[in-house]
Amino acid sequence: PATLDAVALRSDFPTLRRTINGHPLVYLDSAATSQKPQVVIDRMNQFYAEEYSTVRRSIHLLSAKATQAYEGTRRTVAQFLNAPETRQIIFTKGTTEGINLVAHGYGRKFIGAGDEIIISATEHHANIVPWQMLCEEKGAHLRVIPVDDRGELILEAYEQMLTERTKLVAIGHISNALGTIHPVEDIIRLAHAHGVPVLVDGAQAAPHMPVDVQALDCDFYVFSGHKACGPTGIGVLYGKVELLERMNPFLGGGDMIETVTFEKTTYAPLPHKFEAGTPAIAEVIGLGAALDYLRGIGLEAIATYEHQLLEQATARLSSIPGVRIIGTAQRKAAIVSFTVDGIHPHDIGTLLDQEGIAIRAGHHCAQPVMARYGVPATARASFAFYNLPSEVEALGVAIEKTIAVFAL
Ligand code: PMP
Repeated sequence: PATLDAVALRSDFPTLRRTINGHPLVYLDSAATSQKPQVVIDRMNQFYAEEYSTVRRSIHLLSAKATQAYEGTRRTVAQFLNAPETRQIIFTKGTTEGINLVAHGYGRKFIGAGDEIIISATEHHANIVPWQMLCEEKGAHLRVIPVDDRGELILEAYEQMLTERTKLVAIGHISNALGTIHPVEDIIRLAHAHGVPVLVDGAQAAPHMPVDVQALDCDFYVFSGHKACGPTGIGVLYGKVELLERMNPFLGGGDMIETVTFEKTTYAPLPHKFEAGTPAIAEVIGLGAALDYLRGIGLEAIATYEHQLLEQATARLSSIPGVRIIGTAQRKAAIVSFTVDGIHPHDIGTLLDQEGIAIRAGHHCAQPVMARYGVPATARASFAFYNLPSEVEALGVAIEKTIAVFAL
């Protein structure tokens, strides 16, 4: 079985060496954003210090080299997702922009009055709001796949929803609020049986498990660099060629055109049609270093290791009286959302911070999920391959201490 050495890997992350409030940092907020390994920081510094130039536009040597590095990341991403062709990889600002790009470029062109878009009850706001905006503009309707008490989608309800009115399904691969790994293979297969394309929001999946867009047969797949050990401000949209070609561009401007006159503009071929303006060059290059780093560890090994942390954390937190875990699906990523009787999640977060433990408390940009489980907010510990079993234990001890403080 695939394994990894978390103790050794931790030394790649400068942030993980620091102390917080006099304690060694225990970073359990990787679902919000991951820490950065030195190789990514070094690669971006090197680019800025020694290689900096724009891409595509210029014929001088630095620009040619920057373009090579930039396009090199496109190949890296294509391999990372097992995309058939590099022109299917579009650089975006992140998951949010990727979804908005599809809502604009595909949705506004092909979705009209009375049509339906299906999402799920566990979506991040990024995979709700763009579709709502589209529905409002077009007179289309949003349908929502319900979720059971454990955080699993009710597929029978989904099957009933798929009709000739359905024009798109947009589904999270892994819920950031509950940790559920959704059966996207089934969701895609059922949608395709109705000729409906599927967008998968892979923000929480791409950094934590192997993703193969050809095996999934998804039509669009989006993720963010910053949750995958890469920089902020960069993300990826994968799309099927046939769909990307039929879509309208998202942003207009330089680099996305073929010819411009005041009468008419023709657009550049893929992928440049969707990359208007000077892109986030250093961030793209940093993303390449990050994905190389993750592939070096192995996504299978990462998934296996993080699953062990999940099982340990689930058992440890379940053993504490008053702790309720929200999201107990059969297939879960290493995300544990929980509440503690009588203590607001924000207070849990604040007290854990005093112990050097960084978690997130709030609605996790998924307010409908909070409403579904009848809680205003949860505390959320999320794990990465650089976390240790001793940190899971530290979390358990700190929660017990928090409960004891509140009992006084
Ligand atoms: N979808 C999911 C499932 C997420 O977890 C997040 C980030 N929390 C997003 C979308 C949005 O990603 P970003 O803010 O990087 O655009």
